[in-house]
Amino acid sequence: MSDTPGAAGGPEAKDPEELPDVEESDVEKAAQETPRGLPLRVQNLEKRFGGITAVDGVSFEVEEGSLTGLIGPNGAGKSTTFNCITGVHDADGGTVLFKGEDITGRKPHEIANRGLVRTFQIARELEEMTVLENLMLAPRGQVGEKLYKSVTPGLRGEVIEQEIDIREEVWETLEFFEIDHLAEEYAGNLSGGQRKLLELARALMVDPDVLLLDEPFAGVNPSLEEKLLDRVHALREQGYTFLLVEHDMDLIMENCEHVIVMHQGKLLAEGPPEEIRNNEQVIEAYLGEDI
Ligand code: ADP
Ligand code: MG
Repeated sequence: MSDTPGAAGGPEAKDPEELPDVEESDVEKAAQETPRGLPLRVQNLEKRFGGITAVDGVSFEVEEGSLTGLIGPNGAGKSTTFNCITGVHDADGGTVLFKGEDITGRKPHEIANRGLVRTFQIARELEEMTVLENLMLAPRGQVGEKLYKSVTPGLRGEVIEQEIDIREEVWETLEFFEIDHLAEEYAGNLSGGQRKLLELARALMVDPDVLLLDEPFAGVNPSLEEKLLDRVHALREQGYTFLLVEHDMDLIMENCEHVIVMHQGKLLAEGPPEEIRNNEQVIEAYLGEDI
């Protein structure tokens, strides 16, 4: 497991001085007080769509190095919460703090560059590329710097070295996810589960600290689900933090050490799995659900 991706560029590797400047605000000053060990803190998050309040004053924290599950019946507001955290939606209220900084309202790529990364479905144009190309072309941390160097005379040697490094990292990642035998396959020809492995592999190229996965096991056959879960656990052991949004309660109970439950836009309960499993309100919320 020593030659796994991220070993050289894991959570500690980022230099905060290289991150883009952020405007100082009162919220941000307060955020400096966020204790270490809480990379993600959501406070009073709100999101409305017309007359629907999809997220209704939700607050929770994700501990560093944890595998935290966010569950709830269909329509509970899980994906909307996820989209507000990652900048896909603008929240109507509340704050998202990441590593002590206010990231509320920032663009998805800015948030990703700071190390909070979500997986994306393989887009159509990427389906027409090979698995190898998908990883070679994945967005990466410090992209701007790399592009700048590639057009600066005198730094060409360094650029070539970087390209060799990227290629090595890509192959390590392919091997880590056991999709190296598919390197020359078009992404469009992959099975549902293989696609999910590729999506996770692409997300890792950004050199994240925290990974957010929204129903990563949907449509995945049991053996690939097992493999995907195994890789998630292996990455967590390396220090990555996960927030896993899932509808399947059993899967979360078996794999997460902390579980957050949403229902009708609100936080219903949170705690260790065994406590959540026996929580009357949670059982009631899931009643009648096909789980
Ligand atoms: P979950 O992921 O827990 O199933 P969602 O966050 O997708 O729930 O949805 C929460 C509520 O918000 C639902 O009532 C859903 O219909 C509504 N909703 C989600 N996204 C949109 C949208 N883009 N426009 C309008 N309503 C939406
Ligand atoms: Mg959803």
